Amino acid sequence: HALPLDEVDGPVIRTVKGCVFSECQPTPLKEPLTLAAVSQDVLRNILDLNESVIQNEEFVLCVSGGKRFPGSIPLAHRYGGHQFGNWAGQLGDGRAHLLGEYTNRKGERWELQLKGSGKTPYSRSGDGRAVIRSSVREFLCSEAMHFLGVPTSRALSLVVSEEPVWRDQFYNANVIKERGAVVLRLARSWFRIGSLEILTRTGELDVLQTLLDFIIKEYFKSIAMNDPDKYVVFFSRVVNETAHLIALWMSVGFAHGVCNTDNFSLLSVTIDYGPFGFMESYDPNFVPNTSDDEGRYSIGAQANVGLFNLQKLLVALKPLLTSDQLTQFHELFKAKLGFLGNQEKDSYVIAFLLKLMEDTGADFTMTFRQLSEVTLSQLQTGSFPPSMWALSDLLSHEYFRDWVQLYLKRLMKSDSDAARQHRMQGVNPRYVLRNWMAESAIRKAEKNDFSEVALLQKTLTEPFVEQEEAERAGYSSKPPSWAQQLRVSCSS
Ligand code: AMP
Ligand code: MG
Ligand code: MG
Repeated sequence: HALPLDEVDGPVIRTVKGCVFSECQPTPLKEPLTLAAVSQDVLRNILDLNESVIQNEEFVLCVSGGKRFPGSIPLAHRYGGHQFGNWAGQLGDGRAHLLGEYTNRKGERWELQLKGSGKTPYSRSGDGRAVIRSSVREFLCSEAMHFLGVPTSRALSLVVSEEPVWRDQFYNANVIKERGAVVLRLARSWFRIGSLEILTRTGELDVLQTLLDFIIKEYFKSIAMNDPDKYVVFFSRVVNETAHLIALWMSVGFAHGVCNTDNFSLLSVTIDYGPFGFMESYDPNFVPNTSDDEGRYSIGAQANVGLFNLQKLLVALKPLLTSDQLTQFHELFKAKLGFLGNQEKDSYVIAFLLKLMEDTGADFTMTFRQLSEVTLSQLQTGSFPPSMWALSDLLSHEYFRDWVQLYLKRLMKSDSDAARQHRMQGVNPRYVLRNWMAESAIRKAEKNDFSEVALLQKTLTEPFVEQEEAERAGYSSKPPSWAQQLRVSCSS
């Protein structure tokens, strides 16, 4: 699905349809060029190359777009995305060229890409270039994240040139002359949430299905292509992996800075390093990007933003899901309440409870978990042990008793407490990664004490099982009062 090359003097910048890539040649950087940095680890352990290769005069040209690798057909990838909460249409890739893929000695396949290598059909009003400043940051941070153990794209090399590139460094400041640079970066795949979104938005559903099947077949090998639920399984994998990635970001105090859907990898690795930042003094409202006035992408907001992006991914997948698969999402809430079979009023009972939870501010996770642990007679009488703090919060609502009556009537007479509890506890986690828990771990990690990162990691591998150490750490207790203050200041 690549459009053929149609450039005369550089690519024709335009809105493109019916494809996932456009053939497109990099524009060589103006010489003299300097090979400013090389990652020995990438060179040796990903590309199977010997250190001496960088002595070759052509190396600097090959890794900056001045000379083609044999057999390479450079491509620009077409994607769209949601930027700062709004659909932004066709966005990219405006300054990156895919060179091709390399399968190494270990059998790993890597896609090589140049960034800052000139205009593509997707450059919009941009010049297709990257400056030294942003390129040094991308080069250093991709390698740093790898060695921190965070899934990330990698960087082989940084080439700087004498080519003038004009940039407005800070808001409303004068435009100043900087110098162009190119990073050769690598990832197992560069597909993003926005790669799928653009196809759904424009109704290119045949291309959407072809691309999604390709991604599943190539990168999600454990999903069988003949599984009728493969798209649902794919979605739930991306949800899990993305949650894991964001937890890792939090554990090292990393704020990505521009968590738009076009910067979120479908393989859940960190990509597109821009105005990222590592938190220095501890501050959950830390915003690394000076142009993010509202602090939408503050460090503490990343989990919620991840959820927003995953919802956009689900919207992109919807045309490929059957109505049965869509009702699976309603089924999840039925399962959370322990309902067997279907009854007409089910949606009402679910919505009623959610409204009570909203009114009382009852804890989302623990309301469902405690409903899985309570006996029906406790529910009937409203006599909860003190450990059931979320249900006690609900008790204050004038309509809670009415909801309980509906709920008790809905549960099957033949369903025992034990059977219902067992079912419900399997779908209602006792432990989720709450902001305050991550932040508590981060505070310690900042002082080189990684014990709580380890405890959280261990706890969250069995979120449905009650665990002694996690209980002692208060992970299923009412959040500490400082957590509430965090939440208030985050949303203000
Ligand atoms: P970002 O916010 O950095 O993820 O960029 C959003 C989109 O704008 C991406 O598709 C980039 O390729 C594109 N873009 C950013 N800077 C430039 C530039 N100087 N020239 C062309 N495209 C750009
Ligand atoms: Mg980007
Ligand atoms: Mg960028």
